[in-house]
Amino acid sequence: MTAKEYLKKLPKKYTPKELEDIRRAFEFASEIHKDEKRLTGGSYIDHPIAVSLLAVDLNMDAQTIISSLLHDTYETDKTTLNKIRKHFGQEVAFLVKGLSKFKKIKYRGIERNAESTRKMFMAAAKDIRVIIIKLLDRFDNLGTLHVLPEIKQRRIAMETLEIYAPIADRLGISSIKSKLEDRAFKYAYPEEYAWIINETNEKTPRREAYLQKIMPTLSRELAKENIAPENINFRAKHYYSLWKKLLRKNMDWYSIYDLAAARIIVDSTEMCYATLGVIHKLWKPLPGKIKDYIALPKPNGYQSLHTSVFCVDDKITEFQIRTKKMHEEAEFGIAAHWAWEMAGKPERAIGTSPRNIPWIKQLHDWQKKFNKNMNSEEFLKALKIDFFSDRVFVLTPRGDIIDLPEGATPVDFAYHIHSNLGDTIIGAKVNNKIIPLSSELYSGDMVEIIRQKNKKPSIKLLDNAKTSVAKNHIKSSLKKQGIFVKAPKQKQRKTHLKIAGEDRIGLINDITSVITSFGINMESIVQNEPHGKYANVFICFIPKNKKQVPLVVTRLKKIKGVEEVDYKIKN
Ligand code: MN
Repeated sequence: MTAKEYLKKLPKKYTPKELEDIRRAFEFASEIHKDEKRLTGGSYIDHPIAVSLLAVDLNMDAQTIISSLLHDTYETDKTTLNKIRKHFGQEVAFLVKGLSKFKKIKYRGIERNAESTRKMFMAAAKDIRVIIIKLLDRFDNLGTLHVLPEIKQRRIAMETLEIYAPIADRLGISSIKSKLEDRAFKYAYPEEYAWIINETNEKTPRREAYLQKIMPTLSRELAKENIAPENINFRAKHYYSLWKKLLRKNMDWYSIYDLAAARIIVDSTEMCYATLGVIHKLWKPLPGKIKDYIALPKPNGYQSLHTSVFCVDDKITEFQIRTKKMHEEAEFGIAAHWAWEMAGKPERAIGTSPRNIPWIKQLHDWQKKFNKNMNSEEFLKALKIDFFSDRVFVLTPRGDIIDLPEGATPVDFAYHIHSNLGDTIIGAKVNNKIIPLSSELYSGDMVEIIRQKNKKPSIKLLDNAKTSVAKNHIKSSLKKQGIFVKAPKQKQRKTHLKIAGEDRIGLINDITSVITSFGINMESIVQNEPHGKYANVFICFIPKNKKQVPLVVTRLKKIKGVEEVDYKIKN
């Protein structure tokens, strides 16, 4: 594709200056990638082009389009970043840097990925566009997954399901979320994927035919109320979310009500409710299945009316009713606001967005406060729990919705609202009943915290906290009170005893009895390849214990046949 052909694909909204910058970025990336091939054999530049066009579809600003074109140029050459800064400005350089991989550093497997992911989140807390581009990058790369070895396919697919799709969900970009999930599903769970496609084909009514059956009645009744819908369609089936739903319902297809699901787009909020009325007049609604996300939007901003009815042929059908604006926001989420609210003001993206995405701000505070000393794997683990695990939505007594990870307790709820509320918690009421502080909260629970002024957290409170936000608050509060919290077991350092000597029956037995005579539990013993002058080298692992170790060493040296003993204290 030439620059000219590329520019033709862009919508009219960009200014001539922006179009010129985009053209320069196109040429710059084409030059850098000119000799590179994708794993599929195609030319590499096709990938940044595809990513940038996905960003165009999301209506992103020019800086994002430029950064998408440049996102893979930095890893090829260190001096590139300076050039990017010079030619495209600090903001683009920041975005590209946040997107670069850790190719040059030799980390093994997961760790390398953890470090890149961590870096991405650091940058994203300052400018959310980093994450949006990264989501699109991942989506395009999933399209070439089939050329990778199976083990890599699975790792990338799992990471997509565990981290990337939940991010897209939390940003409200459902169009990207479902696309990521369905592409990754195939590689993460190949058998389940094949099974579900087969089952859905059998069980779902043929969409077009079914729509044809419903349409005449529906249009006639809507017309009577002067409702002219902009669009009625059957929404595409998302296999991964369907599978997850089946897992929750013990694989019972009969409890899945939205196998057939229609979406109606109308002009105004009033028309949404009027349309709901028409549908309920025509078909009997299922009790408990009417959801008013217009009056009570989901925490990611999603708005719509949902209802399931016994429709034509007695098939249970779900209707989603929304305005065009609600629809755009549901599909594009934060990206729908980007162009007109936040372009060029990355700092404003935090906390002041029109959607007011509190978790971005939380992420920002969280990594600033707590994560300086965490290694990348701990960081990712905490991140998965605090931000991207399945969520529960609970209510404050005033009706505010609080968004917590699944498994969260009243203690997490209290710390989420305010550290002082957490510190002084002595009990909790859920739906007006007093419950233990260790109880798990469920979506829809109304939670009231019972507190006692001047109360200080105890070690026991730590056991009842699940999020690292709550845990870290409690730990720092305990520290202030001079209470020592034991480090978790896996962090304990170990002593490696290296014992070299001649081959002798009963040698291991003698070593073991010396160590146990000190009351030390030996964790394991391995025999190393013979090297140097010794026929036998054993490495014995014991828990770290500085005081006793020199004594143990002296005693070990006295064993018959042992020539040399030394030790190291390791993590
Ligand atoms: Mn890429």
